[in-house]
Amino acid sequence: MTLDEKTQPATLDPVRAQAFLADFATMSAFGATIHGGVDRQAASPADIEQRRWLQGLLEQHGLRVQYDRIGNQFGLLELNPGAPYVVVGSHMDSQPTAGRYDGAYGVLAAAHAIFRIADELRETGEQPALNLAVVNWFNEEGSRFVPSMMGSSVYTGLMPLEEALAVEDPAGISVREALEPTGFLGEGDGPVAACCAEIHIEQGRLLEDAGTTIGLVTASWAASKYVVTVEGEQSHSGATVMADRRDALLGASQLVVFARELADRFPGVLHTAVGKLDVYPNSPVVVASRVRLLLDLRCADEAVLAEANALLQAELPRIEERVNVALSVEKSHEWGINPYQPEGVELARSVAARLGYAHDEIKTVAGHDSINMKERVPTVMLFVPSVQGVSHNEGEYTEDRDALAGLDVLTGVVRRLASGELRA
Ligand SMILES: [Zn+2]
Repeated sequence: MTLDEKTQPATLDPVRAQAFLADFATMSAFGATIHGGVDRQAASPADIEQRRWLQGLLEQHGLRVQYDRIGNQFGLLELNPGAPYVVVGSHMDSQPTAGRYDGAYGVLAAAHAIFRIADELRETGEQPALNLAVVNWFNEEGSRFVPSMMGSSVYTGLMPLEEALAVEDPAGISVREALEPTGFLGEGDGPVAACCAEIHIEQGRLLEDAGTTIGLVTASWAASKYVVTVEGEQSHSGATVMADRRDALLGASQLVVFARELADRFPGVLHTAVGKLDVYPNSPVVVASRVRLLLDLRCADEAVLAEANALLQAELPRIEERVNVALSVEKSHEWGINPYQPEGVELARSVAARLGYAHDEIKTVAGHDSINMKERVPTVMLFVPSVQGVSHNEGEYTEDRDALAGLDVLTGVVRRLASGELRA
């Protein structure tokens, strides 16, 4: 692996850049799939193996590794005894057949940022106002154990611990049962945070399209999430007269299509999808009697989201009538446009500007652990470009140059956060 002038940010030491890229290549081998992605669902063998590797890396650099009661993994660097921590990181679990960068990039960037700052402080003998912690949040993806962002939700008190530990995967294994044998179920609540930073790939293509290297995340999109059950009647898929059918899958399909049409009415502002569909009995030669689906609406504008929700409600009785099924709709989650602390955005802006990287404000459409953290402490969220916006896909890719630029800016942000510039 060689770095030329094009890939090497001017302000990052080439030895540090090489070390980061080498570690990233090593970690991408955990749960690697044949198409260049990863499969590391929470507490799976690949996730466990990778956590052990991260523990080794953190300890090698003098950090003390600690786990809290929901299995969040922390690497602590105590520089100012008794002071709270700058908590920096993301998640290393993945969706099934996912990409190498989502979450994992942010954890490794946090680790390398803190390694560099630790070396600098050792040289100067300075003592920062705050201590430093790398975090690998447990189960951010929520694919094996629902809901997503579980570790950071428990850490921030937004989800009760016992409720999270009792969540079962589709095989009936609970979070507690999955974590207990790994040694990752710790005793305490983890380090006390004074502030937080996270870097993540954009998972969209606004930065790439604009030729911008660093996204300064100002807010998260609003969202409404629904659990929909479509009730029909089981019957023979060949013999039943068409007019007599009450096909739950047909009703669900109409809702899937309607969700897309809804998004098309508000281009660029509203994203909608059905990501999960459970069909019963899901058998050949049987008309489905019941379908349960998860429908998400995500929106950059709260007024548009309210209008979209109203249009959705109005469509439900039409689908029921057309297809002769019954729909029950339950809103499972809802949140508004949620801003990050503007002081954090300004801090990140000044770091990116001083280092000379093209930067701009951006909103996050996807959920991130930092969205939980910003409810409790000042939090800075950064993005680097995703090539063609590809994410939750084995083809997910970020150029080395951009990954290193992100590491450089994150390091600058954490250095300033450590000085106590922005704290709860
Ligand atoms: Zn992620």
